[in-house]
Amino acid sequence: MGFSQAISEISRRIGREKVLTEPEDVYAYSLDASTEFKQAPGAVVRASSEEDVKVVLEVADRERVPVVPRGSGTSLTGAPVPTSPESIVLDLTPMNRVEVNVDDGYVMAEAGATVLEVDKACREYGFFFPPDPASSRIATIGGALAENAGGLRGAKFGVMKNWVLAMEVYLAGGRKLRIGEPVYKWRWGPDLLSLFIGSEGTLGVITKAWLKIYPLPEKVVRVMGTFDRLEDAGRAISQIRRRGYVPMMLELLDRETIEIVNEVLGYDVEVAEAMVVADVDGPREAVWRMAREVEQVMKESGGRTRASDDPEEMQQLYLARQGAYAAVTRAYPGVLLEDITVPLSKLMVALRELEKLRKEYGLRMPVFGHAGDGNLHPTICFDPRDEDQLRKAREMFVKIGRLAIELGGAISGEHGIGLAKKELFLEEIKAVRGEGYLEVVRKIKELLDPNGIMNPGKLWF
Ligand SMILES: Cc1cc2nc3c(=O)[nH]c(=O)nc-3n(C[C@H](O)[C@H](O)[C@H](O)COP(=O)(O)OP(=O)(O)OC[C@H]3O[C@@H](n4cnc5c(N)ncnc54)[C@H](O)[C@@H]3O)c2cc1C
Repeated sequence: MGFSQAISEISRRIGREKVLTEPEDVYAYSLDASTEFKQAPGAVVRASSEEDVKVVLEVADRERVPVVPRGSGTSLTGAPVPTSPESIVLDLTPMNRVEVNVDDGYVMAEAGATVLEVDKACREYGFFFPPDPASSRIATIGGALAENAGGLRGAKFGVMKNWVLAMEVYLAGGRKLRIGEPVYKWRWGPDLLSLFIGSEGTLGVITKAWLKIYPLPEKVVRVMGTFDRLEDAGRAISQIRRRGYVPMMLELLDRETIEIVNEVLGYDVEVAEAMVVADVDGPREAVWRMAREVEQVMKESGGRTRASDDPEEMQQLYLARQGAYAAVTRAYPGVLLEDITVPLSKLMVALRELEKLRKEYGLRMPVFGHAGDGNLHPTICFDPRDEDQLRKAREMFVKIGRLAIELGGAISGEHGIGLAKKELFLEEIKAVRGEGYLEVVRKIKELLDPNGIMNPGKLWF
């Protein structure tokens, strides 16, 4: 037995039409959004039921065939890219049922439903699903849980982990594990939910999740400040937090981001050293008072401000941030999107150090990100056909990761580790958590996946 026999058995048991093996059919599964890593799988199984998942994991485990769970492949780190040609990519997107239970305060979503579909379903009842990765239109719930994704509303609402009540997971060998209950309080020993959230498909396949929902805010006011000095923007951000305001969104953009967005997308956004955009939400009668206070903090820090609750104008105030990633990827054939997190008190130090790196290497590197939770996206722009630029970009990438570790932060706030950050992740763990941590996690892996078939080569496995 082996790979071919495994594929024949799976095809026979779940139906030939769900199993793709032709090179032109599996090609789309050989990359993710990073486009940096490439390996076509030998087969793709498009699972449309839990039984399909179970059969794949049972046969693959017996035959020692690697299984790579996959949502929409929007990962930016190579996480859903196979590391061997005789792998099965398990595509969960056909499993996309969504059911809102507004009385009990949750939404049940199958792994392949997109984050936006879940959010939209909740909105029909006057609720919403707070985690909002910028890729939410296509990123799946399974992928977002496996990456512990965050998003623009993270400053106030955190990441996926904060919104899960229960999950169903299938382990290598086909065993089903139900974790948690769809109620707001439950206790039964160690928290296994957290074990799978952020595990990047290396411990099991998430098939279903029960997620908390939240009432839609009555009103949102967007406040935008432009600053002549980066330090002033940094002071405004820390003062907003220090004075007790927790805007739903608190974003920072630097001059280079604004310039690239204007150049590439043809916008006419005021160029300044930095821009801060805050979404203040709350009850109708109080929200403008809070927004004016946030605006005042920005002014005291030297900002020129605008505020609006008009949808069109709000969109205008957000143009530069919204277009940042699209502009960069359109303008440059090579882009390395960093994702570090630093303690809020070190935000300005990080920005200054990034500026030094930019000067040292002479590559463009717009910096934007979720300043409210210390998560920055320095975005290294280069031409991969130019060996010198490629080398510089890779060196910068590593140095930025190390900067985050030195400042007491993390090499990834939301995009994960995958293949792109394996070495840096080990450095971070050794520096902060120690060898003992790795030992414990390796033992957990051996217990749940003794034959090592689940997404091998990712994280530190
Ligand atoms: C333009 C753009 C913007 C982005 N913005 C953000 C952002 O704001 N915040 C953020 O956090 N991320 C962001 N990302 C990264 C990415 O979209 C997220 O990590 C997303 O959650 C991945 O979802 P996916 O369905 O595409 O998963 P995939 O890319 O298919 O898979 C990601 C990982 O999850 C595993 N996986 C997928 N499904 C399952 C499952 N059912 N069970 C177990 N493991 C599974 C895979 O094996 C892989 O390791 C962005 C990406 C792009 C391209």
